[in-house]
Amino acid sequence: MENRRNYQYCLIGNPVKHSFSPLIHNSITELMGLSGEYGLNQVETDLSGEIKRLHSEKINGINITVPYKSDVMECLVSIDDIARAIGAVNTLKWTEEGYIGYNTDYRGLSREISEEGIVLKGENVLLIGAGGAARAAAFLSALDGAKTITILNRTKDKAQIICDDLKKYFGDKTPLLRVCGYDELEVLKGQKYIAFQCTKIGMHPDVDNCIINDKVFYSLLKAGIDLIYTPSDTMFMINCHSCGVKAYNGLKMLLYQAVEAYEMWRDVTVPQAVINEVYNRLRNKTKHSIVLVGCMGAGKSCVGKAIAKKYEIDFVDTDQLIEKKEGCKISMIFEEKGETYFRELEHNCIKELSESGRTMVISVGGGLPVREDNRDYLKKAGVVLYLKAKADTLAGRLVNDKDRPLLKAGKSAEHIQALLDKRGSIYESVADYIIETDNLNINEIVDKGGRLV
Ligand code: NAP
Repeated sequence: MENRRNYQYCLIGNPVKHSFSPLIHNSITELMGLSGEYGLNQVETDLSGEIKRLHSEKINGINITVPYKSDVMECLVSIDDIARAIGAVNTLKWTEEGYIGYNTDYRGLSREISEEGIVLKGENVLLIGAGGAARAAAFLSALDGAKTITILNRTKDKAQIICDDLKKYFGDKTPLLRVCGYDELEVLKGQKYIAFQCTKIGMHPDVDNCIINDKVFYSLLKAGIDLIYTPSDTMFMINCHSCGVKAYNGLKMLLYQAVEAYEMWRDVTVPQAVINEVYNRLRNKTKHSIVLVGCMGAGKSCVGKAIAKKYEIDFVDTDQLIEKKEGCKISMIFEEKGETYFRELEHNCIKELSESGRTMVISVGGGLPVREDNRDYLKKAGVVLYLKAKADTLAGRLVNDKDRPLLKAGKSAEHIQALLDKRGSIYESVADYIIETDNLNINEIVDKGGRLV
C-alpha cells in the first residue's frame, strides 16, 4: 500500500498535541544526521484498526501513551516479558508478522538513576503511588535486586495488586514487600530508603503541593526521585533537599524512555553528546511562561527580571514594549493621546504576546487586567501570578517613583487603596497563583514564583 503518512515513527494517544516526543525524536534524528520523521497520531476510537493500518503502511516504530498503554497489548504479535508483567506497553517495533510491544518507561527510569549514581541493589525502595508509573518503578526495583519494596498509596488494594504481580513474575527472587497507607508512616522508621514519587501531586501548576509533608519522613531517605518533571524543582524535591537528601525530577526518565525506543527502532547508539543537547532543548521546552499581574509597586518588573534571569528565559514588560513602539513615555501617551488610546495599545500588546508562542516572563501594566477582553489573553500567554501586597506596602515601595501617571495626585496609601479596591478582586479572579508579598524579600518571591516556570 502507498505510504500516506509524512512520518515513519509516531506517537499514538489521546490527547497527544502537548507531547514532547516529537521534539526528542526529531532532535536526535537531526543531530545524528539521519532521516525519518516522528509525528503525532491522535486516536479517538478503533485503536486496533489504526495499528493495523500503520502496520500495512510499514510505520517502523510507534510510541503509545495515555490512555492506550494496556489496551494496545491486544493488538500486538508478541510482547516483551517484562512489559507484559508491568501491564503496559509504550513502544512498538515493526516486524513482518506484526508489531512487538516493549516498555521503555522502566528502562528510561533505570538510565536516569544510573546516570545519577543511584544503585538499587540491596536497598530499601519506597514507592509513593500505585499507578502505571509506580508499576514501572516497582519492576525496575525488583529487577535491580532491591532488598525491600514498600508501596505507599491512598488505595492500598492497588498497591497490593502490584505486590501480587511482582510475586508472580519474580517468584522466590521477589524482594520483601510491604503495603502502607499515608497514615501509617510510623512503620517506616528504623531504615533508610530510596524513594520514587509516582503520583501527580505537585505537578505544574499545583507546585506547592506534596503528597507527604512530614519532615521525619524525608529524614529517612537516602535519595528521592520524583517522576514529575514540571516544575523542575517539585515540592517533594524541596522537602528532600531540606533534609539534606539528594533529589531528582523525572525529565531524564522521559528523555531516556525515548532514547531507548529510538535505539531499538533504528539499531543505533545515540551518542552522549546528542543526548545532552536534546536534554537542554527539552529543559527549555518544558518551561512555562509566567504573566505577572498586580498593582504598581507590587514588584512585577524586578521580580519578573530576576525570574527570567534565573530560568534563562526572556523578560517582557508591556509598558516598556509600548513605550518602545510609540517612542515616548507612558506618562506622555496619557497626556497627549489619552487613556483610551493607551488601553488599546495595551490590548494589542497582550494579544500579540499571547499569540507569539514564546516562553517568557511578562510583566503587565496594573490596569491591563481591568479590561475584560484582555483576561483571556493573559491566561493564554502563561500562568498568571498575582503579586499581592497591602496598600501601605505598595506606597512604601513607590516613594521614589516619578513616572506613574495615575499617581500624580500623590503616592498616598489611600490612593493606592482605592486602586486596590477596584482592581484587587480582578487580579485575584484572573490569577492561577497568588503570592502575598508583604513580608517577603525579593529572593523569597523569586524562589516561590519562579517554580511556576
Ligand atoms: P496514575 O496511573 O493515574 O496514578 C496516579 C497515582 O497517584 C495513584 O497511586 C493515585 O492513588 C495517586 N493519586 C492521585 N491523586 C491523588 C490524591 N489526590 N491523593 C493521593 N494520591 C493520589 O498516574 P501515572 O501514570 O502512574 O503517573 C503518575 C505521575 O508520574 C504523573 O505525574 C506522570 O506525569 C508521571 N510520569 C512521569 C514519567 C516520566 O517519563 N518522567 C512517565 C510516566 C509517568 P490511588 O491509587 O489511591 O488513586
